[in-house]
Amino acid sequence: MIEALFSLPWWQILVLIVVCGHITIMCTSLYLHRSLTHQSLIFHPIAAFPMRLWLWFVTGMSAKEWVAVHRKHHAHCETENDPHSPVVHGWASILFLGVKYYRKESQNPETIEKFGKGVPNDILEQKWFEPMKYAGPFIMLGVVVYFFGWLQGLVFWTGLIVWVPFWAAGVINGLGHTLGYRTYEVEDESRNLSPLGILLSGEELHNNHHRFPTSPKFSRKWFEFDIGWLYIRMLVFLKLARIRLTDETFA
Ligand SMILES: [Zn+2]
Ligand SMILES: [Zn+2]
Repeated sequence: MIEALFSLPWWQILVLIVVCGHITIMCTSLYLHRSLTHQSLIFHPIAAFPMRLWLWFVTGMSAKEWVAVHRKHHAHCETENDPHSPVVHGWASILFLGVKYYRKESQNPETIEKFGKGVPNDILEQKWFEPMKYAGPFIMLGVVVYFFGWLQGLVFWTGLIVWVPFWAAGVINGLGHTLGYRTYEVEDESRNLSPLGILLSGEELHNNHHRFPTSPKFSRKWFEFDIGWLYIRMLVFLKLARIRLTDETFA
């Protein structure tokens, strides 16, 4: 039996799950979503690499697949060709089984070919992140069990593994097109889940995002807050990110 290095109170394990989950959503929002998918900003490799590494470690997701499925969602929103529309499939189905819809579409070679263009295909992607995409979560399992023991390690690992499937594939894709307020009468059913985009790194402001998809800033009204934009401003200040200014950026 492996002896745990740390035995933490359970509340600290929960706090760790929330903090690490937030980092995962932040990397998903800033790197996969705002940068790769919509190309609203470009990261310096010094900023991009830790995000790619973290996503590899805790999600097992392919960048190209993520980008392709999400671009198809924007291109065919709320139609039969939308990979995960709650209008077509029902909100409960997307909330609880969103990851199933995502996985199905990510296995469609036509989607990957048509919508996955322009995703970095450097040596790291070719030799590491893509071919070994499922190795990260297995290594993470070993690391967390080593530090926290089997019980707390497994709970911690499970919390991180289900974070993106639940919060992104479920809550954002399902409830972000079902519940909340609309500032813009766009053609799809997108909604802002909350004016405070903190836990989900600003992705809560989904209606704003559908109205201005190439803007790196998701908050629009004075009472809205997008913590992802705050992170971006800090990285711009450090010269680790560059915003691609478009008409939508500060519209
Ligand atoms: Zn959407
Ligand atoms: Zn988007």
